[in-house]
This record gives sequence, C-alpha cells and structure tokens, in this order.
Amino acid sequence: MNDFEKRVAEKERDGLYSTGIDTLQVNLGLRCNQQCVHCHLEASPHRTETMPWTIMELILRVAGRVRCQLVDLTGGAPELNPSFRRFVSDLRLEGHTVQVRTNLSVLLEPGMEEMPGFLRSHQVRLVASMPCYLEENVRAQRGPGAYERSVTAIKTLNRLGYGSDPELPLNLVYNPGGPFLPPPQSALEEDYRRELGERFGIRFTRLLTITNMPLGRFRKQLDRQGQRENYQRLLRDSFNPKTVPGLMCRRQLSVGWDGTLYDCDFNLTLGLPVNHGAPDHIRSFKRDDLWTRRVVTGEHCFGCTAGSGSSCGGALV
Ligand code: SF4
Ligand code: SF4
Repeated sequence: MNDFEKRVAEKERDGLYSTGIDTLQVNLGLRCNQQCVHCHLEASPHRTETMPWTIMELILRVAGRVRCQLVDLTGGAPELNPSFRRFVSDLRLEGHTVQVRTNLSVLLEPGMEEMPGFLRSHQVRLVASMPCYLEENVRAQRGPGAYERSVTAIKTLNRLGYGSDPELPLNLVYNPGGPFLPPPQSALEEDYRRELGERFGIRFTRLLTITNMPLGRFRKQLDRQGQRENYQRLLRDSFNPKTVPGLMCRRQLSVGWDGTLYDCDFNLTLGLPVNHGAPDHIRSFKRDDLWTRRVVTGEHCFGCTAGSGSSCGGALV
C-alpha cells in the first residue's frame, strides 16, 4: 500500500475500488488552442495526439453495452478533433447523454462558427473553464484576450438557451490561480453569479471548483517557484476522509486518445493505465473486470481528497 492507500484504509479495506461506471470520460486528444499555465495535460496548439475514428467506433460499441449515465468528452480542446461532430452525433443518435468540456475560447476560432448551434441542436451539456470572474486572474492563467473571448462565448451560448434552459446546462469551472485550495464552492458560486451577472448579464447553471493537480505544466510552475513540496504537503495535510466515498475514479472510467483505459484523467497524464488485472484498452473492454477494479493510486491522489475534495464534477463534500 502507498501512503494514499494507507490514509484511505481508514475508510476502505485494502486499497481503493471502483463501484461502477456511471461516466465514460473520453479524451479526444491533446491539441488545444490555448496553453494554460496550470494545464496538467500540457495541452497546446503544437500537440498532435488525436483520437482516431477507429477508436471512437470502439467506444461507441462499448458505450452501447455499458449504458452509463454520461459520456464526458474532454481534451485538449475536444472540439478540435476532426471527427468531433460525427462522434457526438452518433453518441446522441444512440441515446447517450453527452457532455463536452469546453475552454470557451475555442468556439471563437476560425471554422467554429457553427459549433455553438451544433452543440445546442444535439442537446450537449457543457462544462466550461472560467478560472475566475476577474480578468487579471484569467489572463494570468490563460493568456491575454482569454477573458474577453470567454465572455463573448458565454454570451453566445446564453443566447442559445445555455445556462437557463434546464435541458442545456452550462457549468463553469473555477481553479485556483496558484498553490492553494479552492474556496468553498457555494459561496464562490454566488460571487460568480453576482459579478458575471452585473458586468455582462451572464447566466450559468452551477459553478464547479477544481483543485490544481501538481502535474504537467502546473508542476513545472511549482518547481520554478520552489513551491512543489509545500503544495504537496498542503494537499496531504488537508486529507479529508469524507471525500473518499465520492472520488470520481470510483464511478468513472477514462479513455485516452489512443484507446488506453485509465481510472481518471490524472492517471492518464502520468501514463498509469488501469491495472490490478483489469483490461487496459478499449478493444479488450470487459465490463465485469472494470466495474469493480482496484484503482491505481499515487501521491497525486491527495489532490482529490484535500479540503472539500475535487473531481471533474467539482467539490465532493
Ligand atoms: S487547461 Fe484546458 S484550455 Fe488550458 S491548455 Fe489545458 S486543455 Fe487547453
Ligand atoms: S487522482 Fe484519480 S485515481 Fe487518484 S483519487 Fe483522484 S480520481 Fe482517483
């Protein structure tokens, strides 16, 4: 058992186990129009890793068998995958609930003019990164112009009904601008609603707070600032056993752009596929082996259990 599993053992038996697959998270590739300083995947316009259609076909087959509650598309910027629309259309045709994690600014890239309407007409749920309601903080993380582009994109989505129509949820994502934990989610949601509402008339469904993982580009930034050890200690010292039952790896499976299976997107970053005997590629998917698999954990997992906890769906407690 590693140190994380020892802490978890206070709540669980021998290690961390999944209890089902409610969400199939699919990483469509690492190409992104942005290059954010906190990106654990180190996505950028220069990355070439892209999920091919042949892997998407396998996922469609598996999704039909598993019938999970949600197919969650992420990247990079998932919209930049050349087969994005075909994949979304086929998933929706087969009755799956589809969610896309968008960085918003990609919707203003050349060739994306029809994308908001496409998402709406396919009733795709949206989770959009908006790391702060203040311009300077967004600029620091995502570069100049990112704030204005994000606001423009949200306004376009609002005009289509996103953020007000219950069938078209638009959840915003906050992540800290440095090596500290997110503030309480519900209080921050009120701040976002007030500030973005008063300044721009923006509407959104919920705010999700996500802890920065000390991986990828954020880890390099911590190293440059000599903060990595302090931050790792903060995450460890903030271990909250109440978060363990809700850890996302327990009800989710991640598929990498090449079809490799992971317990979560962070393990994908680290190149740690599912293990302990579970099949680790979509082509050899076996429901029973993956349903109750033992999760591959490590030091980074303390990022999910610190304070109120963190997951792709926001705080855990
Ligand atoms: S954090 Fe998101 S938007 Fe930023 S570079 Fe990474 S994938 Fe792209
Ligand atoms: S990093 Fe991944 S495997 Fe570790 S606790 Fe978080 S979701 Fe689970």
